[in-house]
Amino acid sequence: MQELEERIQSEGTVKEGNVLKVDAFLNHQCDVRLFDHMGAAWAQHFAGKKIDKILTIEASGIGIACVAARHFGDVPVVFAKKAQSINLDGDQYVTTVYSFTKQKEFPVIVAKKYLNAGDHVLLIDDFLANGKALHGLINLCEDAGATVTGIGIAVEKGFQGGGDALRAEGYDVDSLAIVDAMDPATGEITFRH
Ligand code: 5GP
Repeated sequence: MQELEERIQSEGTVKEGNVLKVDAFLNHQCDVRLFDHMGAAWAQHFAGKKIDKILTIEASGIGIACVAARHFGDVPVVFAKKAQSINLDGDQYVTTVYSFTKQKEFPVIVAKKYLNAGDHVLLIDDFLANGKALHGLINLCEDAGATVTGIGIAVEKGFQGGGDALRAEGYDVDSLAIVDAMDPATGEITFRH
């Protein structure tokens, strides 16, 4: 998506440790108009597919997913919560995710009443790097008996391999910008087309 690539080029900054900062428009300050265009792009990609729920993970995915939902007939948006501890009361599906940015594992939960067998789910997130966050969301869907219809990502860092691994597993991954290389020394960012 050209608009997103241009914003990354002009406002993104490349940090050490393979971190791309885009908090001027994506995950701190939010450009809702851009989110709307991203939602339209995913709706075009997934047109004709059955999607009756969007699942994302807190916090950065929530705003993007909520705006995108307007393009999918206002389907509900559920966000998996990052829990402090696992409360095994049986009312929630639980998985563990290794955080790329925090470099530690944490439990992720979703209430059973919000993810059901037979749901056709679109997963949405701001970034795809190694794919840990998405595999957590996929685990939650599998536990619930829900079907993952597709995956919509704003920025995929292609060089970290998570996206290609998910595609090899058969998932329909629509990343609106795929960064194939980025250099913290020069700030240069190269996109895959
Ligand atoms: P993964 O689980 O695919 O390795 O990493 C994806 C998650 O880590 C996303 O939910 C996102 O919040 C965070 N993340 C990964 N790489 C970056 C990055 O370069 N910049 C930012 N801002 N977040 C990232």
